[in-house]
Amino acid sequence: MTELYSALTRVRAAFFDMDGVIYVGSRPLPGVQELLDYLDASGRRWMLVTNNAALTSQQFSDKVAAMGLRVPPARILGSAEATASWLRHQVDKGWPEGKVIIMGQEGLRSALLDAGFELTTDPFAADYAVSGANFQLTYRELADVALAIRNGARFIGTNSDRTYPTERGQEPGAGSVLALFTAATDREPIVIGKPHAPMFEEAMSRLGVTPQETLMVGDRYETDIAGALKLGMTTVGVLTGIERRAGFEAQSAPPHLILEGLPELLTLLHRADAAVRGA
Ligand SMILES: [Mg+2]
Repeated sequence: MTELYSALTRVRAAFFDMDGVIYVGSRPLPGVQELLDYLDASGRRWMLVTNNAALTSQQFSDKVAAMGLRVPPARILGSAEATASWLRHQVDKGWPEGKVIIMGQEGLRSALLDAGFELTTDPFAADYAVSGANFQLTYRELADVALAIRNGARFIGTNSDRTYPTERGQEPGAGSVLALFTAATDREPIVIGKPHAPMFEEAMSRLGVTPQETLMVGDRYETDIAGALKLGMTTVGVLTGIERRAGFEAQSAPPHLILEGLPELLTLLHRADAAVRGA
């Protein structure tokens, strides 16, 4: 326990996945606001980090505000915004300033425009092809993006989640669309979202922290936990989302902590901080 407490007291920032950690559907999970308030009060930083690329940070902020949670847009990083920031960094480091063709929705479109990119629908004018979730996609859009990739546009994916949980079951996610492009072009994308490093790196750079002082809280092993462990973060698997306890425990590198939910994490942080104060 002492080792765990000292790991927790070293934590200067916490990242939270959203779906299955902060809320399920349109229902907030217990203890979210209390935990975020305690992180603020104890001088820690935090950010909500989601692979969802369909919404802007403002739209995510509005969504959680409707659940009674106070989260400013600057504390939310979706994979659309992470992708746009990452691509901007690459261009600043020497990739050509070029036009972008997208497979995506408003979140991706506005993130790329905000990052200063010019969008195009012409597959033969695109230097970059960026693909995320698009729940209104048409064959024409699929064909245009595939043609752009075949024509040499750099192929970038917001996230590789193959499925997306809905009331009806697991529907095709952004990763399934990437798989279609790979099948159609024989090219593999560079992927930004969890478990890939760029998303975590963008969030850490925004908060000015290193992996060793960052806690990642997630409900999905293969994205949230695996990616964070690879970078050297302390990880917490919660049971409010997709994974059950046995699923986390069966991993060869399980999360550092498996907790029922966020109230248990708040209790542990309280105890760890109290132990340090009492020492
Ligand atoms: Mg989740």
